[in-house]
Order: sequence, then structure tokens, then C-alpha cells
Amino acid sequence: MKEARRAPGSEWLKNHPKLLEVAYVASKRLITLSYPLVRKVAPRFAERFMVRSEEVVKGYAFNCQMCGQCILHSTGMTCPMNCPKNLRNGPCGGVRPNGNCEVIPDMPCVWTQAWQRSQSMLIFADEIHVVQPPVNRSLQGTSSWVNMLDGTDAQTPKGWQSVGKS
Ligand code: SF4
Repeated sequence: MKEARRAPGSEWLKNHPKLLEVAYVASKRLITLSYPLVRKVAPRFAERFMVRSEEVVKGYAFNCQMCGQCILHSTGMTCPMNCPKNLRNGPCGGVRPNGNCEVIPDMPCVWTQAWQRSQSMLIFADEIHVVQPPVNRSLQGTSSWVNMLDGTDAQTPKGWQSVGKS
């Protein structure tokens, strides 16, 4: 679904990225500590649980498209995969004068929103400047949390060098 679903309350949440970045940091700590233990005991359950949780929670809040390489904290807590062009760096040159998307004229440009929201973040405001590598389509449908813990989400195409990361 390309047009953001605008689930009740989700736009309010996304417009308060400071809350979301704190929630992100807390979730990352919790998952980093707990997931390896759960995976040791019940590996299949652990992975399925993570995938389903992301589908439900991030699907509601961000209209997550399950790319498996989450960069929400680098994009003002606005999911870049909602851009009809699936751009991982944006905006493109087609933003309309009113800030809407050239492909879906009644939808605000995802990247315009990403920039605006990133500017009010406290922890990750500068991450919007990081040039993101191409998305790895082979991770579609997998858990980005698991991929982060495994390091899979950090693997980039040969020859790619991340720009803007210190
Ligand atoms: S996992 Fe990918 S598709 Fe889902 S919210 Fe993060 S960036 Fe968007």
C-alpha cells in the first residue's frame, strides 16, 4: 500500500519523532538483550514473533513495508518505503510546489516529511544526512531487528561506500 494508511493516531505519532526516537532506543536495548536468549530456546518462534511484531506494530505506526533494513531513525521516523519510487535517499526532483508527491498528488512527499520531522529530533537529527545504500531486496519480508542483530542489514553491495557516517 503506497499511500500512507493513516491509521488512527499514527500521523500524530510520526509528528512527534522525539517520542519515537526514545522508544526506538529503548526497544533496541530490550531486543538486543532479550532476543539472543529467546532464540537459543526457541529459534523458530523467536524469528516468527519478531516478524509478526514488526508487521503489526510498525505496520500500524509507519505503514511499514517490511523491507528488512529499517532506517526509520535516519529518516525522521518516516518510512522511506512509502515513497512510490521506494527511494532510500530523497526527495527526488518531482516534489510539487505544495510539498506533495508527483506520483500521488494528494499525498505529502515522504521525503519532505522525513526532513521536517528529522529536524525536531534530539538524538538522530543528523542521520538524515547519511547517504543510504541501495535496499537489499532479498531481505524483503524479514525482521529488520533480527537483521540488525545479525549484521545482515549492514551488508552493502560490493563497492558501495557509505557517505556521511562518522
Ligand atoms: S523496516 Fe523498512 S519498510 Fe519497515 S518501517 Fe523500516 S524502513 Fe520502512
